[in-house]
This record gives sequence, C-alpha cells and structure tokens, in this order.
Amino acid sequence: MITVLAGGVGGSKFIRGLTNQVPPSSIVAVVNIGDDDEFYGLHVSPDLDTVTYVLAGLDNNVTGWGVKDETYNALSMVKRLGDAAWFTLGDRDLGTHLYRTKRLKEGAQLSEVTREISKAHNIEVDVLPFTDSSVRTMILGKEISDTKPTVEFDVQRLFSFQEYFVKHHHQIEISSIYYEGADRAILNPEVAEALASCKKVLVAPSNPLLSIGPMLAIPRLKELLIQRRRDTIAVSPIVQGEAVKGPLQDILRDLYGDTSAVSVAKFYQPYVGTFVVDSKDSCLVKEIEALDMNCVVFDTLMTDKEAEAKLAGAVVEL
Ligand code: GDP
Repeated sequence: MITVLAGGVGGSKFIRGLTNQVPPSSIVAVVNIGDDDEFYGLHVSPDLDTVTYVLAGLDNNVTGWGVKDETYNALSMVKRLGDAAWFTLGDRDLGTHLYRTKRLKEGAQLSEVTREISKAHNIEVDVLPFTDSSVRTMILGKEISDTKPTVEFDVQRLFSFQEYFVKHHHQIEISSIYYEGADRAILNPEVAEALASCKKVLVAPSNPLLSIGPMLAIPRLKELLIQRRRDTIAVSPIVQGEAVKGPLQDILRDLYGDTSAVSVAKFYQPYVGTFVVDSKDSCLVKEIEALDMNCVVFDTLMTDKEAEAKLAGAVVEL
C-alpha cells in the first residue's frame, strides 16, 4: 500500500499517474482541507473535489478546476440578486457541495462523506481528508508600511485562504501563514494507520506551504512522518526557480527569499528521505544531498497523462 500526501492540482495529476502504475485500491490519498471554506452556507472542499473530479474523469481541463461541461446558472442568479459572488461555483459542482453539506449537517464526518462521494464516482483510490476537524490556512499579509502594496487595501491583513487566492488573486505580499485549528485537530485514524503501515509515503508535487503545510501542522502526523522519513519521497513542485502553477514562487520569495527547489527540500528535510527534482534542476543535486537527503532527477512536468504515469512510475520504483 502507498500513501500519498496531496493538494489539488499537482496532487491530483500525480495520483492519477500513480493509478496507472499500481492498483488504485492500493493507494491512500491523504488530501489537504486547509483550503476548505463556506460559501452560501455550503461546505466547499476544493482540494478533495479536484482529486475526486480528476480520478472520476470529470475534471475541467479548460479552467483547471471544477467539473467539465459546467454551467453557471445558479451563480448568475446569485449575482443578479446583488452578491459579488467572487468565488465561482458551477452548477454541477454545487451539487457536490449541497450533498456534502447535507451529510455533514446530519452528523456524518468529512471522511465518511468523502468516501460516499468517491464510491458514487467508482473511485477505487481511498481519498481521505487528513482530519475531520477544522483546519484553516490563514494568510497574514505584510504591513503596508514595510512593503510596497500590490493591492489597495490594508485595513485587514489577515485573509482566509480563498480570500487570498481567489478574491485577491494571490497579489498579497505574505508575512506569515498559519493553520487555524491545527493544534487541536485530530489526525484521521485511517490516515495514521496508512502512514504507519504503508510501504512508501509519497509527497506529491503540491504546494508545500499551502497544501502539505496544514498536514504537517498536526503534531501526530508530523511525528509519524518523521518515523517514516527513510521511506518518504517528495517531488518538487518548483522547476528552475519557478512554480509550475500558482503562487508558490511568490510565497517562497516572501518567506525564505529563495524560490529554488532547494528551499522546498529544506522545508521537507525533517520528513523526507528522498527528494525528486526536475531534470532541469540537476545542478541542485549536491546542495540537496548536503541536507542529508537523497536527491534524484526525473522529468517532473506532468503535461499529459503519459507524463503523469511516467513520473509516478519512476517515483514508485525508487
Ligand atoms: P492546489 O491545492 O490546487 O494548489 O494544488 P497542489 O498544491 O496539489 O499543487 C500546486 C503545486 O503543484 C504548484 O506549486 C505547482 O508548481 C505544482 N505543479 C503543478 N503541476 C505540476 C507538474 O506538472 N510538475 C511539477 N513538478 N509540479 C507541478
């Protein structure tokens, strides 16, 4: 059995690649819920849904998120009623959030509902949130006095993840990130079991601070990962100092002053025994090995399903 820690976009492509290399039922996908939020009274779990839609073949490769062949009638009506509706939710996607919210209100745990959704889509991978507790990634923007503002507001410097990412298009210089609720969150027992008993732990090429960071903020998960360090392999989401997608590059620059894959390796150093960098970053191998990590080089760009499977296959063989 293989356990994969994953966020949304990078995580889901890597997991889909893995399903072409090992039996899907032997994969436990531990997915981030730090981006979860409530919109219109509905519980939205963007990373869980991205993984689910990709594995179900329902993903929208035009937008890169949400469901394919989507319509936005419900949201148009919300806008017509005067709401800013800055968080786009498609009609089919709304169906998922309606179902999830209903089940949570009935008293079901998020992991239980996630399994119900997977089952309905015939997904064999065991997709699990890392916790059923509430953990929320919060972004603290820099003081307007200590930075050149990139946005025209400074009244409130603390943003929920979705405010930072969607409402403000991640154009906020970050002072720090914290994971609200992580100190008292309970690690999903099935995740603990998977981490303790699996053959390998893989960390997908996901955002280390926004997607994997919320998991590492849970003391029990951190402890289990440290125990499995020798069997843990992470793939760099950074290629030649740039994020393949999303704000990681800006975040690394704001927080560490270095956007190379080395800064990601340093972040994972206590938990990861082997770090995979892209072939274009082979010059970084020595620097990463000096961190007491093995460092291997592959093509990590998952441009299509074949590339995803090739990367996943190479990582599994390590
Ligand atoms: P999110 O939760 O939707 O942001 O998704 P993830 O955290 O799972 O993935 C986002 C990260 O994946 C970004 O930092 C990207 O740089 C990285 N990423 C996306 N596609 C690829 C790829 O094909 N190869 C590699 N190496 N990284 C990727």
